[in-house]
Amino acid sequence: MFDYLIVGAGFAGSVMAERLAADGGKKVLIIDKRPHIGGNAYDHYDESGLLVHKYGPHIFHTNSKDVFDYLSRFTEWRPYQHRVQAWVDGQLLPIPINLETVNRMYGLKLTAFELNAFFQSLAEPRPAVRTSEDVIVSKVGRELYEKFFRNYTRKQWGLDPSELDATVTSRVPVRTNMDDRYFTDTYQAMPKHGMTRMFERMLAHPNIKILLNADYREVRQTIPHAELIYTGPVDEYFDYRYGKLPYRSLEFRFETFNKEWLQPVAVINYPNDNPYTRVTEFKHLTGQEHHKTTLVYEYPKASGDPYYPIPRSENSELYRKYQMLAAATPDVHFVGRLATYKYYNMDQVVAQALTLYAKLMDCSRQEALANGA
Ligand SMILES: Cc1cc2nc3c(=O)[nH]c(=O)nc-3n(C[C@H](O)[C@H](O)[C@H](O)COP(=O)(O)OP(=O)(O)OC[C@H]3O[C@@H](n4cnc5c(N)ncnc54)[C@H](O)[C@@H]3O)c2cc1C
Repeated sequence: MFDYLIVGAGFAGSVMAERLAADGGKKVLIIDKRPHIGGNAYDHYDESGLLVHKYGPHIFHTNSKDVFDYLSRFTEWRPYQHRVQAWVDGQLLPIPINLETVNRMYGLKLTAFELNAFFQSLAEPRPAVRTSEDVIVSKVGRELYEKFFRNYTRKQWGLDPSELDATVTSRVPVRTNMDDRYFTDTYQAMPKHGMTRMFERMLAHPNIKILLNADYREVRQTIPHAELIYTGPVDEYFDYRYGKLPYRSLEFRFETFNKEWLQPVAVINYPNDNPYTRVTEFKHLTGQEHHKTTLVYEYPKASGDPYYPIPRSENSELYRKYQMLAAATPDVHFVGRLATYKYYNMDQVVAQALTLYAKLMDCSRQEALANGA
């Protein structure tokens, strides 16, 4: 009999398994319906021997020392500052929009001090900032909105920014200085030997057993366990009682080129008519040296694997109903992005799992992190 059955071997499930086994002394079985551990952060070597992320680029960044120190038990790091450019009007411009983006696009020589006034001259004031369109247009005006955000968002979500909650475009800042880094977090680094290697080390504890290619719905009756940690979709757990929670999906097309490098930075955004939204060249992220290079093209689509919860108020309402069911099911603990129907970065999911573990053990975060390495 296992103390815990854990559904899903991504960050949420793996952190729970590691803490319960190494700190709590519990016997754990972690299962995943996919043939590998790591969840969406899984990486592997492709046919040419290039390290790629199967479910799109995953860049680690956090402001949490606890989360960074905890993951450092399982990996060394390679310092990495993420940079993104957008293909606009026949040139590559830095995104998030910064001083260089504006000067190059408008052929100006503004200083950081002058840029705010320039943005204000373009901005269209909105009485209330409710939608993703309002966020951008009220900050930098219609032209930058049209060129950098509108089509990208329409492709990504299948909806116009005017139909989406403000949260979608609020994630991308606008800067008045020359900082062209995509993230400004204190800790920005990639696991030196890849994500999957880090997961392998997290789960390499004698109290942890792993079962892959196993869908919870098929095996639940056959695995005796005291408690359940569930990181799969919350609506699926409750047999879609109130209907399906809507997600946006992606198709990934990988292509290997007989060239050492193809892009100046890891990611290029295409906020225009191309069917893909962005293209990632993995070697920038991984630091791998290789005479070839692999890129991934992302094509948003309506159906397929659930990647992004669609941020609209009616969907939050639907989730709230499932959340109430989850709260009324005390022997099952729901954690992670699918179980809580929210887009979380990897570090946020690690923090969420550490918080749940401390709650289960009735101890503080520091106590929850004290043992095991
Ligand atoms: C395209 C894309 C890019 C991203 N880029 C970044 C980034 O750059 N930086 C960042 O910090 N975050 C990024 N994220 C977010 C990151 O993927 C998540 O924070 C993280 O994967 C969440 O971990 P999780 O364990 O909650 O979910 P997951 O990684 O999805 O793991 C859940 C696991 O549960 C399994 N499962 C589901 N149902 C069942 C079932 N019935 N039976 C058995 N197993 C089941 C699934 O197969 C899956 O492996 C990105 C997400 C996407 C979609």
